[in-house]
Amino acid sequence: MGGGGVSVPVRITRDLFGLDGKVAIVTGGSRGIGKAAAKGLAVFGADVAILGRSPKTEETVSEIQALGRRAIFIPTDVGDVDQARSGVERVVREFGTVDILVNNAGIASVAPAEEVTPEEWDSIMAVNLRGMFFMAQAVAKVLISQRKPGRIINIGSIYGIVGSEIGASIYHATKGGIVNLTRALACEWARYGILVNCIGPGFIVTDMTQGVREDPGLKRAIENRHALKRFGTPEEIVGAVVFLASDASTFVTGENLFVDGGYTAW
Ligand code: NAP
Repeated sequence: MGGGGVSVPVRITRDLFGLDGKVAIVTGGSRGIGKAAAKGLAVFGADVAILGRSPKTEETVSEIQALGRRAIFIPTDVGDVDQARSGVERVVREFGTVDILVNNAGIASVAPAEEVTPEEWDSIMAVNLRGMFFMAQAVAKVLISQRKPGRIINIGSIYGIVGSEIGASIYHATKGGIVNLTRALACEWARYGILVNCIGPGFIVTDMTQGVREDPGLKRAIENRHALKRFGTPEEIVGAVVFLASDASTFVTGENLFVDGGYTAW
């Protein structure tokens, strides 16, 4: 005993998952998992800034504002470190602080490993791994300078720990990197009260999986790799996001939480 860590008093009430007064950043909230996560955080009380590319993100912002929360869209390509940094600075200017980062923005491409080009490698790495790291760094710098605790939630994948034959080798590499980057950041930033965790979704019904779902044979094969024999929905990721953002997870850090219908349970 006596390791010097500071425990956080947690009250067991129905507010355990409450996020009132918190400011969250979600990257890539125009659609899919990011949109569901942004709305979920707002339902539980957070104000939300979405750093993303598409003007369609304004729809998510309107839906959050209709819930009575503050929301802004800050046009940002997270693959560009300067844009990521200035996006976070703007959140602090508008909302005064940040408490939660959901590092969701991600891209994938399908090509046989023997045909992958250096350009494809760089473009996917730039968003999924480098963009994620520099977003986390920018938010951590704010938290450290404001001397406040915070949460960083990285959206990984089942493909962070298992391989596949579908021709997504670079994607697998980025997601594997995210799993252990999460552990490293959790260890480094624990001293500042910053908890860093990862969520590993199974196959989710979003634009990213449209190609797979349009191929009946592949779709069935992939469904069968989930113990629950189906794809999940973006809404099914929200509970894990809220859990990892809230007082319900004050003793959870460096974790990789699968929300995968049992894909990795086999
Ligand atoms: P999606 O429907 O394709 O949405 C991707 C989102 O990321 C969009 O909002 C997109 O914005 C944004 N984005 C992409 N590149 C960006 C960039 N450079 N800067 C800012 N925003 C960017 O994908 P999804 O399925 O919701 O995936 C979200 C995350 O979950 C990704 O990290 C993905 O790897 C992960 N994941 C997905 C699945 C799945 O089965 N769907 C499974 C495991 C993990 P635009 O609209 O502007 O393009």
